[in-house]
Amino acid sequence: MTTIVADVGRCVGSGQCVLTDPDAFDQSEEDGTVVLLQDTPADDEALKRARTAVDICPSRALSLAE
Ligand code: SF4
Repeated sequence: MTTIVADVGRCVGSGQCVLTDPDAFDQSEEDGTVVLLQDTPADDEALKRARTAVDICPSRALSLAE
């Protein structure tokens, strides 16, 4: 099973992940850092969106664990 991992310490709050997959990601109202809503993509489409989010995150704060 693939799991999304978010390193909040690296996150710069750019919000790209939220734009890419609002079902899986949100941003903290306090400092804008990433909040994982769904860490296990439910289907292939969700996994595709998660991979895109990992790829476009400017601070490399996101990764996938198999
Ligand atoms: S795209 Fe990366 S830096 Fe931007 S909010 Fe998401 S995890 Fe943080």
